[in-house]
Amino acid sequence: MGERHMYDVLVVGSANADLTVRVGRRPGAGETVLGTDLVESAGGKGANQAAAAARLGGRTALLARVGGDAYGELLLAAQRAAGTDVAPVIVDGAARTGTAMIIVGPDGDNSIVVSPGANAALTPQDVAAAADIIAGSAVLSLQLEIPMETVRAAAASAAAAGARVVLNPSPAPESLAPELLAAADPLVVNEHEARQLSGRADGEPGEWAHALRGQGARSVVITLGGDGALVLDASGIGEIPGVRVEAVDTTGAGDAFTGALATRLARGDGLADAARFAVRVGAAAVTKPGAQPSYPTLDELA
Ligand code: ATP
Repeated sequence: MGERHMYDVLVVGSANADLTVRVGRRPGAGETVLGTDLVESAGGKGANQAAAAARLGGRTALLARVGGDAYGELLLAAQRAAGTDVAPVIVDGAARTGTAMIIVGPDGDNSIVVSPGANAALTPQDVAAAADIIAGSAVLSLQLEIPMETVRAAAASAAAAGARVVLNPSPAPESLAPELLAAADPLVVNEHEARQLSGRADGEPGEWAHALRGQGARSVVITLGGDGALVLDASGIGEIPGVRVEAVDTTGAGDAFTGALATRLARGDGLADAARFAVRVGAAAVTKPGAQPSYPTLDELA
């Protein structure tokens, strides 16, 4: 599949500076706690997925907007270091680079507040201007940290060009437009997103996956944290066991998974094989702090 394309993976999505502090105990409303020194690193769901794909050797490009500030430079430098083609990235002098304020608790789990900044200015026009790049990509990877109309324009452009869409509907919306669901092959969701979008508060992952496919997704992948992932496509359901590791920081694990999945699908792997690889990459990503700084190369994964 990949060889006749300019890129294995094009990511259209967000880029954020991650501002991370670790705490011994999460603050409640109205409460202040002391944390560790602030760490600034490269993040944002779109940029994370691009970095994950590029570090694993996928030919990867990113269409995103950053501000004309120091955080924007940090994000571009991180993408270049990962091996991403950043030519499509727009440096927007009128906006601030998006930021994510991340609190990592004692269990390694995180709580995050995102300020979108320049991500909110990524428009359908930006997507239209990149139509040739979309048509030249085997896989288009999308998330929801940019305006929904921009995501829809990108999915429509991919459908017109025959590029395969990997859609990670995160942060989880109340519902998804039918044509977005229909474009997703696969829809990649964590347990929370699976519950929310399937409309089933109860039940188990297999039921959520069938419900999401019933709603129109061509295929579905549900990530299950340390328990691995579940895949569902026309050939049926598959359970991918987790890889036992000591979780240090789960920030960006889902993005590592999705970027890895996208590179393998672009190279022609079936969904279950691609997910098996992505589970290993996700597990590696939780063993180190940060989002992009925790992503493995193929050598490191081995
Ligand atoms: P995040 O929001 O933290 O980026 P997520 O909620 O989107 O993650 P998860 O299902 O938690 O997604 O994790 C994605 C993948 O990362 C899993 O499928 C698995 O491969 C890996 N992973 C996450 N947590 C662990 C863990 N504790 N041990 C091993 N692997 C893990």
